[in-house]
Formats: sequence, C-alpha cells, structure tokens
Amino acid sequence: MRRKLPFELTKEQSFYEALSDWVGDVFYDILPEKGFDLRDEQVFMAFQLNQAYKNKQVMFAEAGVGTGKTLVYLLYALSYARYTGKPAIIACADETLIEQIVKKEGDIEKLENALDLDIDVRLAKSREQYLCIKKLEENASQKDVYQDMWEELPGFVHDNSSMRSFTHYGDRKEYAGLSDEEWNSVGWDSLQDCMSCAYRHRCGLTLHREHYRNASDLIICSHDFYMEHIWTKDSRKREGQLPLLPEASSVVFDEGHLLEFASQKAMTYRMRMETLEGLLEKLSSSDMREETLYIIEDIMLDNEKWFGLLEKESKGETGSDRQYIKRSEAILQQARSLTEKIENLLNELVFESEMYVMDDYLLKVVEEYLEQIQYSLKLFLDDEKGIYWLETSEEEHTFVVMPRLVEEILKEQVFSQNIPFIFSSATLSYNGDFSYVSRSLGIETYEKFSVESPYEYEEMMRAHIPSLDSGVDSKNQYVWERLQSNQGKSLILFTSKDEMNAFRAYQIQQADQNWSVIYEGDREISDTVEQFQQETSTVLCSYHLWEGLDVPGDSLSQVIIYSLPFPPKDPVFDAKRKHATHYVEEVDLPYMMLRLRQGIGRLIRTSDDKGSVHVLLNDDETPYRELAESVLPVGIEVLNV
Ligand code: SF4
Repeated sequence: MRRKLPFELTKEQSFYEALSDWVGDVFYDILPEKGFDLRDEQVFMAFQLNQAYKNKQVMFAEAGVGTGKTLVYLLYALSYARYTGKPAIIACADETLIEQIVKKEGDIEKLENALDLDIDVRLAKSREQYLCIKKLEENASQKDVYQDMWEELPGFVHDNSSMRSFTHYGDRKEYAGLSDEEWNSVGWDSLQDCMSCAYRHRCGLTLHREHYRNASDLIICSHDFYMEHIWTKDSRKREGQLPLLPEASSVVFDEGHLLEFASQKAMTYRMRMETLEGLLEKLSSSDMREETLYIIEDIMLDNEKWFGLLEKESKGETGSDRQYIKRSEAILQQARSLTEKIENLLNELVFESEMYVMDDYLLKVVEEYLEQIQYSLKLFLDDEKGIYWLETSEEEHTFVVMPRLVEEILKEQVFSQNIPFIFSSATLSYNGDFSYVSRSLGIETYEKFSVESPYEYEEMMRAHIPSLDSGVDSKNQYVWERLQSNQGKSLILFTSKDEMNAFRAYQIQQADQNWSVIYEGDREISDTVEQFQQETSTVLCSYHLWEGLDVPGDSLSQVIIYSLPFPPKDPVFDAKRKHATHYVEEVDLPYMMLRLRQGIGRLIRTSDDKGSVHVLLNDDETPYRELAESVLPVGIEVLNV
C-alpha cells in the first residue's frame, strides 16, 4: 500500500524541489526545535543526496562519526519509497547492525518521534537466523534445550490448526541463550530443501519472508543477504519462486566499503562429499537406463577420490579455518575427470527426462546441483578466476570456491538498475581517493563527497600506543591492568577467534572482579551487544565488531585493539596479494588501516562520549607506529610511546 508523503506536494513544485525544501526545514528548524544539534555537515550531505536521488546515481557519501548520516539517508530513502510506491532497501554490514538501526531510541524511532511519522520498517534477516523445524525435530531428543524448544513451538506447527492463528516465530533472537555451535544444529543451513519440506507453509522462515516482502517504506537487511538476493533471483524465478527481496526504489549500503566481501561471499559455492552422494543415491533409486546408472556409479567413485585427495593435499594456517589446496597434477586430473563425467550425466538426464519416468522435481534439483558443481570445478581449474579452499571439521570436509573478481557481475546485475545507490561510511576513500572501492565494485560513474566528524576529539579521546614485549603474556597483563583501572566498561577487539580464546584462557585464571567479561559467540550476537550496553561495567571481547557497533555512553569508555588488524594469511587474501603489484601497499595496509580506523571509531559515538583507545604493538610491530598514529583523529596526543 502506497503511503502518504511526509510533506505536501503541489503542482508548482517537482517532487525533488519539495523534498529538498522539506529536508531543509527538517534540519534547520524541526530537529533543532526538538533538541537535535544543527550540523553543517549533515545539511551538506542532505543536499548532495538530493542530487543523487534526482539523477538516480551512485553516490559515495563518506561522512565521519557524528555527522548524523543515518538520519539523512533515512529521510531520502523513506520519501522516495513513498513517492515511487516501492520500499527502499537499507543494507547494513552484518546481521548485528540490522537490529541496531531499529533498536529502542535508535535513529528510526528518533525520526518517528521528532517528525510525527509512522514508518513501516521490516527486517529481512538471513535464512541462517531462522529455526529449521525439520532439524529441530531430528535433534529434539539430543538435548533438553532442543526438547524445550520443540515443545514451545506455536500450536499450529504440530497440529495443522487454522492458519488464521499464525504468528511470527523462529528468529534466533528468541533463543538468545544458545551458543553458535548449538544453534548450528537447529538453524537453517544451505543443505535444507525447503521446496519439498512438509513444514514449508508453517515454518517461521517462510512466514517471516512473506511479512517483510510487504513492507511499504523500508526493508533492513545485511549486505550478505542483499547479495544473496542478487545472486539467486534469476534461478528462483526459473523455479517459480519469488526473489528473496522485492523490487526496491533505492538501495543504501551502510558501511558500504564492505560490499565487495559480501558479494564474493554470496557467490561462494560449497560442496560436500555427502551431498552429491545422497542426491545421486536418491536419483539411482528411480527407473532409468543402465548406461545412466553406470555413469552415476562412476561419479560416486570419482567424488570419493576427489575428497580423499583434497584431504590429503590441503594444509591450514593458524588464525584461519581455510585450508590451502595444493594444485597437484593428481588433484587437477581428478577435477577434470569429475567435470567430464558430470557433463555426461547431464546429457543422459536429458534423455531420461524425455521418457517421463523420473520425478520431475528430483530431476530439476539434481540438474541444478550438478551444474553448480561443474561451475565450481571450472573455477578451480582456471586458477586465474577462482579462489578455493577446504574447510574441515571433525565430521566433514567442504570444498569452497568463489570467483576472484566480482566487478563484472555487480556492474551487470546491480549497478545497471536505474535507481539511486547510496554508499555511506566513515571510510570509503584511501587518502581521499575513491577509486579502490569503485574499481572493486565495477562502478564507473559516480558522485562522491567527504565530510569530517564534527567532534572535538582532542577533548574527548586519549590514545595509547604501548610497545610491549613479544608474545601474549605482556599483552594480556597490559589489557588486564587497563580493565582494572577502567573498572571494565571496555571493548577488546581481536583479529581472530583463536586470539580471543587465548585471551579467554588467561582471563579465567585471574581473580574475580566486580565486572564481567562476555565473549562473542557465547550467545546470540545482538543479545550480547544489548547486554554490553545495559550492564555498564561489562567487558565485551569480539573479533567481528570492528565496524558498526554503536554503543554510546559509559558502557564503552575504553577500546583496546589487541593486535593490528592485518588481513589473515588465507586463500582469499592470498589471491588478492597474488594479483597485486605491491601487495603490502595495495592489499595488506589499506585493509589494516581501514579496519583500525573503524575499530578506533567505536569509542566516540555521541558528543557526550569520552574515553581512551589502546593500540597494542609488540616489539616487532613498532615500524607500524606511525601508521597507527595516522589513523587517529587529528589533534590527539599519543601517550605511552
Ligand atoms: S521450510 Fe526449510 S527451514 Fe523450514 S523447516 Fe522446512 S527445511 Fe527447515
């Protein structure tokens, strides 16, 4: 349903003129009257966005902390959604940040109260955030907590009662106490076949999707989910399903500098030995010709050999769960053989389908899966095009492959749409140059601007860059002393889960304090962030929350950067390094500096915030001191040098 514009539109003015006048009134008069600061940077950004919306352009809006950029893009996205009758999509860097934008006293609520608006905003969370009833049913007897979850499901799930009583359920947030590992046993995963599932019409995931698709103003999702939508929309349409997201009037990428990673992730293909095996077993139980059965048996043997070789010829690095796959002749030969046999099977399946004895749906699923395997094996065989690795857990091995370059796909499938795309972030350029981000996203024509933060950082922030002895002992001791003297109230940022867990082992040995330490992954993430915000003395340890975490006030009065956030040594970054002329300057340093700037940016979120930042350097990291200092806001005195 199309909603009323938040301003009057007369015959004398175009929509864009009226929008510009209204936005001017909002920032110069209405918001200051309601106690908001009048910020020149915000007004400047607002008029830049007017042009981007009018010309349906890509706009890189680089705006420092405190410029109030979210309020600006929300006003434009909302007005344009109502003008066009299609919702705007706001894509945040990850699932945690989705909740932040709609949290109590967050930016949307502030706008609603100050402008007397009723904004129809709905969250489109990724499928992994939803309970899979089928998996819960299978695992209910394994643990009391799963049994309780099973019993607490709404009545209509078990008893086919009236669909009129449907309520939304199954969001991971409702099961906040489950650790990541526990959730993995009952949450949706990519191996679930929802199309043929008996619970489909009663599943929380399906109900939730119907709900957000009908949003009239704003849909909030993560970059990953938006890119998954782009990557799957054609195949979903082919299968008679709706795309994951509805058509949008405009798209805003909050923390837009991270979109390239989300794009690669969405185009990543994962292959497990058991999945192909299971599908082919199912297929061979159908009536089919003998020659097709022989090819299936051959593929099963090849599949087993392929995974056996992968396991033998892969090796890992600490700090990454991705194992390098050696391109030995045996592995390449096996990949070629599997590709060839799959091609033969696909040809045979065309004949089989013409005989109408096989189940149509099964045939379609198998064909699609075989084509995906072929695509991934071809990416693997063409070393220039693919990035690949092996992920290993106790029970299984997963071969993972992604395209090295995503710009062509983004250019064709995203930025060719004639709608406004806004990239908002405090860190979009590297030394004022936007070409690194524009090139990596395939964007040729764009507008851009940068505005600095309006905060007086020299009054609000103290910075410490201590040089410590090599090894973790001196770092742990330093961190512990800082936590004691600050009475908790800190965010500690690590570069990996292993690094965080090593600190956890140290912390457990220390005497109890009157503040607690919480760790990412122990509970649902937005619940963890909420706990950190509410319990003013708690310490939050995280390896993901370098960007986007917005916790103003006393709860976060100290940020400790445990290590410089260089990209990990893993196949994804190695592929980037391999194709750079000077990989340190082109890949490692820009990534590290951008992430460090983002991490430091977690401290000061409002003009009332104060606190300290500690960037820990070991002896061998002292050459980076100057670089670390250069990302601090201008005018900050560095202590402990
Ligand atoms: S529809 Fe999909 S997510 Fe829902 S229960 Fe079935 S398989 Fe699981």
